[in-house]
Amino acid sequence: MTRLAILGSTGSIGTQALEVVAAHPELFQVEILSAHSNAELLIAQARQFHPNAVVVTDETKYSTVKEALSSLPVKVFSGTAALNDVVQWETVDTVLAAIVGIAGLESTLAAVQAGKRVALANKETLVVAGELVMQAAAEKGAGIIPVDSEHSAIFQCLVGEDIRKIEKVILTASGGPFLGRKPNYLVNVKASHALQHPNWTMGAKITIDSATLMNKGLEMIEAKWLFGLQNEQIEVVVHPQSIIHSLVQFADGSVKAQMGLPDMKLPIQYALAFPQRLQNDFKRFDFKDFSKLTFEAPDYKTFRNLALAKDAMFKGGNTPCVMNAANELVVNSFLQNRVSFIEMSEIIEKVMEQVTFIEHPTLEDYRQSDKDARMYAAEHVKHSQLSH
Ligand code: NAD
Ligand code: MG
Repeated sequence: MTRLAILGSTGSIGTQALEVVAAHPELFQVEILSAHSNAELLIAQARQFHPNAVVVTDETKYSTVKEALSSLPVKVFSGTAALNDVVQWETVDTVLAAIVGIAGLESTLAAVQAGKRVALANKETLVVAGELVMQAAAEKGAGIIPVDSEHSAIFQCLVGEDIRKIEKVILTASGGPFLGRKPNYLVNVKASHALQHPNWTMGAKITIDSATLMNKGLEMIEAKWLFGLQNEQIEVVVHPQSIIHSLVQFADGSVKAQMGLPDMKLPIQYALAFPQRLQNDFKRFDFKDFSKLTFEAPDYKTFRNLALAKDAMFKGGNTPCVMNAANELVVNSFLQNRVSFIEMSEIIEKVMEQVTFIEHPTLEDYRQSDKDARMYAAEHVKHSQLSH
């Protein structure tokens, strides 16, 4: 029996993880659930899964959750400090890190430092502080199993392989809803349009990141840290059908790929059950439905965020942290129609130049760089034409 802490249980990944758990009650037991502000769903989940404790990080929701669960033997906590505490409990075996954004960093790090197995969906954690997190994982013997579909694909390709024999990894990108479009089209797109992803249904932030290709940039940095790669070993190819989830090329030129229909429940289940493969009834891939799988080079000129993320990866230090913070802020502003699609890249680029470079940041440096980047980005958002 694996005892799980599911952080971000009310999100897209969190709810799909609970579907996996519900399908395998003999294997998984929910020990902790956490959510930020969706009290109703958190309460419903607690009633269904009977966790030992729930954490609602938004403190204004504490009394609602506490009262609703008062007749059940469920401990209720609030605030981020509680989150960092519960992941270390002895009764937790595996932590599913499925909070969105840098808000997930400290609880993931706390889990790693407690030597827990971490099923990692929260890619921003590795983008911001990959070196620190992987070092702590190595020291504490914490296994980090990726949930992100591309990294799960690479991880699956590497089972039984010598990681030193990787020549390169190739991350596949669907290209998002604006594949093939040029800047003259992108200037006018609205959030409602960018939220329509062709192949995946996900949280709002990652859906916008998929439309700008920032998501693939974040994933390059995530891959670098997860698999200990050199920057030059990481490539991106656009594959609009999202059937091949990523590939690994080895020293002898052999290329392995992992394939399947786009369904996050598969990588979630794989990460929670690893090294087992569990039987399930997910829809199967059928070649007859896909007569063509196509591949093309990404358009770095139009989708500037991908180029910016690649630059940040090569520059290293606190640059990915700064880029991530600026991105989180502009994505939020874009969702509120306060900046345009194109302005998002312009602002991120400016902020990357503004924040002081730190080559070997500490956790405190990351906190400060994140704060500074958000301050500069907010200033730029104020000057957007859409903000007036
Ligand atoms: P989501 O927005 O649907 O859910 C986010 C969850 O995090 C919610 O439970 C929310 O309550 C919680 N949360 C939000 N802000 C918080 C805060 N400040 N403090 C504590 N908790 C907070 O997001 P999602 O799409 O499920 O994505 C979660 C993570 O997984 C992201 O890092 C994303 O990049 C990654 N990921 C998602 C998918 C996907 O298909 N959705 C695929 C690959 C990777
Ligand atoms: Mg992905």
